[in-house]
Amino acid sequence: MSGYRVVIGGMSHETNTFSTVKTTLEDFRPIYGDEIVETLKGTRSGIGGYFDVLEREGFEYLPTIKAGATPAGPLRNEDYWEIVEEIKAGIRGAGKIDGVLLALHGAMIAEDVPEAEGTLLREVKALVGETPVIITLDLHGLISKMMVEHCDAIYGYDTNPHVDMYERGVEAAEAMVRTVRGEIRPVVAHRKLRMVPPTINQRTAEGPMVKLLETARRMEGQPGVLNVCLFPAFPYADVDRVGSAVVAVTDDDPGLAQRLCDELGEQMWGLREEFLKPLTPIVEAVKTAMDAPEGPIILADVADNPGGGAPGDGTEILRELLKQGAENVGVACIKDPEAVAKAIEVGVRGTLSMDIGGKTDKHHGKPLRVKGTVRTITDGRFIHKAMAVGVPADVGRTAVIDVQGIEIILTERSHAPNDPEVYRRNGVEPTDKKILVLKSRGHFRAAYEPFSRAVFEVDAPGLTTPNLEWFTYRNIPRPIWPFDKI
Ligand SMILES: [Zn+2]
Repeated sequence: MSGYRVVIGGMSHETNTFSTVKTTLEDFRPIYGDEIVETLKGTRSGIGGYFDVLEREGFEYLPTIKAGATPAGPLRNEDYWEIVEEIKAGIRGAGKIDGVLLALHGAMIAEDVPEAEGTLLREVKALVGETPVIITLDLHGLISKMMVEHCDAIYGYDTNPHVDMYERGVEAAEAMVRTVRGEIRPVVAHRKLRMVPPTINQRTAEGPMVKLLETARRMEGQPGVLNVCLFPAFPYADVDRVGSAVVAVTDDDPGLAQRLCDELGEQMWGLREEFLKPLTPIVEAVKTAMDAPEGPIILADVADNPGGGAPGDGTEILRELLKQGAENVGVACIKDPEAVAKAIEVGVRGTLSMDIGGKTDKHHGKPLRVKGTVRTITDGRFIHKAMAVGVPADVGRTAVIDVQGIEIILTERSHAPNDPEVYRRNGVEPTDKKILVLKSRGHFRAAYEPFSRAVFEVDAPGLTTPNLEWFTYRNIPRPIWPFDKI
């Protein structure tokens, strides 16, 4: 062993301030200490990347807490501070340490702490002083001055769908190793932009992000540049730090870092209109999918994406499918604990007649009366085979009901079905379906696009609609695009 010691922590939540669902510590299902190693070592998660690098380099790692929840409304204050205190206690209890690696999201908001990550970093820095603090962030993170001021380097995901969590974890940990050994002295700069693009066209395989990432990669080829990353960011947060940003990390050259941010920021601003994209109306999407000669045709319910803080119980697309008489359809998922309990009560092959979905709020369609047969019942646990490969998932007890040839996965918890495992675990083979409804904005593409014939982003109502005019913002800086002329 090198004798070097690094504390590890993870806190991630993408907070949708328009959601009425409060997020509590229970939703985070936090894991602690050795349990983090047991759960994440060997997985394609960011923390999995930390472990692999530190172990290879003979560094000792000291995991504190790893807490991540499905996006929803702001986190309760006391729960937020409990996570912060747990990380601080881990640092205090670790004795002499050489660095802190934190896997964060970047768009987390607690009831009275709009700067959840910035505040955590400030508290950590106050404890560790000059000791390096390096973080990984989601591409949807809301970068702030406070975050940048209280850490030594930032590594954001370069892909969307986020299939590079592990690689960015590896990069961050390698930067930590080199910093601790005195080989580099990272400095980080950022540039915030007066733009709030919807998430619909922030993919990295097409659209404006392709050009921006090209520039970032070219910049990373310059001497002294350690990392350049883009944060088109998450728009469903009514806070001051909303908006896109770019970040650059250099080896002890703050001037260069700032120049890179300014240049890349200018390019991003110039491309802002390209982030907008039209959606397909519900009736047209259903009809086109039914008329298609071959499936699976994906109907993405982008506005009811639990991955962005919507409840995942919207009924409007399903209502239209039933109305037009679609068959051989899979719907993933509708969160409805009451319906799951009823399905379990009547059992497999039993029938139930009840209202499903539309129960969380008034923004995702009314509850839908269905009569169906229960096909399967499971505990809703599976291991990810796409994106964070190897990481366990738990969507709560789950039942599949068949309503007129439409198989609906009912879950106890909100879940964005980005991994087809949620179908297979529940006895539905997604490749056999003519139509698949996915409550997801875009992360599903990594695993579903290879076997689907077409994708329609459907204009149903919901808390993650790309139609940002639908929301009333009160706390964001003005003027800001696309709401104001600048
Ligand atoms: Zn993201």
